[in-house]
Amino acid sequence: MTTPNPGTNQEPAAGPSNFIRDIILEDLKTNKYQGRVHTRFPPEPNGYLHIGHAKSICLNFGLAAEFGGKTNLRFDDTNPTKEETEYVDSIMDSVRWLGFDWEDRLFYASDYFQQLYDWAVKMIHEGKAFVCDLSADEIRQYRGTPTEPGRESPYRNRSVEENLDLFARMKAGEFPDGSRTLRAKIDMASPNFNLRDPIMYRIVHAEHHRTGNEWCIYPMYDYAHGQSDSIERITHSICTLEFEDHRPLYDWYIEALGIYHPQQIEFDRLNITYTLLSKRKLLQLVQDGHVTGWDDPRMPTLVGIRRRGYTPEAMRNFCNAIGLSKTNGIIELGRLEYFVREDLNKRAQRVMAVLRPLKVVIDNYPEGEVEEMDAINNPEDASAGSRKVPFSRELYIEQEDFREDPPKEFFRLSPGREVRLRYGYFIKCTGVVKNDAGEVIEVHCTYDPATRGGNAPDGRKVKATIHWVSAAQAVSGEVRMYDTLFLKEDPNQVEEGQDFTANLNPKSLEVITNAKLEPSLANAEPGARLQFERIGYFSVDVDSKPGYPVFNRTVALKDTWAKIEKRGTPKK
Ligand code: ATP
Ligand code: MG
Repeated sequence: MTTPNPGTNQEPAAGPSNFIRDIILEDLKTNKYQGRVHTRFPPEPNGYLHIGHAKSICLNFGLAAEFGGKTNLRFDDTNPTKEETEYVDSIMDSVRWLGFDWEDRLFYASDYFQQLYDWAVKMIHEGKAFVCDLSADEIRQYRGTPTEPGRESPYRNRSVEENLDLFARMKAGEFPDGSRTLRAKIDMASPNFNLRDPIMYRIVHAEHHRTGNEWCIYPMYDYAHGQSDSIERITHSICTLEFEDHRPLYDWYIEALGIYHPQQIEFDRLNITYTLLSKRKLLQLVQDGHVTGWDDPRMPTLVGIRRRGYTPEAMRNFCNAIGLSKTNGIIELGRLEYFVREDLNKRAQRVMAVLRPLKVVIDNYPEGEVEEMDAINNPEDASAGSRKVPFSRELYIEQEDFREDPPKEFFRLSPGREVRLRYGYFIKCTGVVKNDAGEVIEVHCTYDPATRGGNAPDGRKVKATIHWVSAAQAVSGEVRMYDTLFLKEDPNQVEEGQDFTANLNPKSLEVITNAKLEPSLANAEPGARLQFERIGYFSVDVDSKPGYPVFNRTVALKDTWAKIEKRGTPKK
């Protein structure tokens, strides 16, 4: 399809097939909404968005864009005590970062407070709602159980006049929090709990982030949501499966009011192994100091993964690939990382960085000489060009690339063994220097000047290529290596009396403070994404200072040293 694409800044493209898309195709065929496709993303501003929300955002904006439709951003701000403008701002920022644009369609459920109130009054007039004086506890007792019907509230048959009077006085602030509610008069015997005279309004004397102290009664989610959809003339109101049982209530309110009827469609919530996707629990991690903030790179928040180096393209590709289902499941973290790696492979500049340095001295290399070696910036992208990397007599290599006494399958540097230095020369180990504890602190080598650039004219082969950094020009920096925040695939699985924090991984962060980096990284720009050759993908952190860059490991390289060796010389 090549329809215009107002809801997104992406190129139009046929989206991935899924059952919601099929419903839309069918609705377009039958002209159910006169050819319109209008979706919305309705976050509650009570925390930062996470990867689960990304699935919903990609779905809502993606489907509308595919069919030339529109998507609204609507803040579902009906709970004044938990909501803040900080969250509103970060949510907008994250939706934009993912690559979507709501244009001029930014809405707030609180914009509709007056309309929702007027509709509630109308329902009272028509005998469809009543003011109830039961306490929260009593309402629970009256509600019944899955096998027993509930009991009707003793206030259920109040006169319309009395209900109107009490509701107006609730609004006027005459009654304390929790003393009264407005409830829909539906069916206390319904097998669906949501239809057992659900609460429409509660009294909350609290300041709202937008309406201030104008209101002290606030609509419940179920009453506000469908009506907001209707006001905005949403066609397909897409939400997660836990709202399936709420759909009869969604439909009931719309029909009771006789207003435009959008359709609610449910899909499966995203769950990822070793990851928690719940704003409430993520807030707890922040408040209790288990992480440094919402944007800690270990967090599954969109601000967290962004700081870690994930790209919006990778997130969109992932969301498209996982598809939709009508039952909840769990996606392997590795699947998400696959898409991150795949995208970074195309765009990340390659650089050399040594995380745990070991000094190498090339005894036959002229002292004081520095050569500029050509290094390819990205073998996947010829347009990325190349750069110069200094080479000299003293270098750093990774400690783990040297073994004094190598096991059989170890092909990297060891006494008497020759290896290739990437973009450098062949070097052969001639000896080591040890400290008093017997640890190798320096490796001595000779180099073959005929192998400049990494190939021997006589055709002789080496079994390993290792990376390096020239010692004199090296820049020191910090590298933050991350592991999963939780040790269990399902972080919610705990022993009795524990909460999910019992599953926190005490080793989720390892800080390396003396990494040696090629000089081009001295003033690396925060936000830049790089591949440290043979190690992984890294992002430049905002904590970087001029001359002391700080990196986050985004994701490890699947492409290990063994595979590099199989490939032989670098691809052109
Ligand atoms: P949380 O439990 O993390 O607070 P929520 O559902 O309460 O999530 P909302 O702000 O109400 O968060 O959600 C906005 C939209 O994002 C809703 O349509 C919701 O269904 C969807 N959403 C939230 N979490 C996920 C998830 N894990 N997978 C897919 N969609 C999600
Ligand atoms: Mg919610």
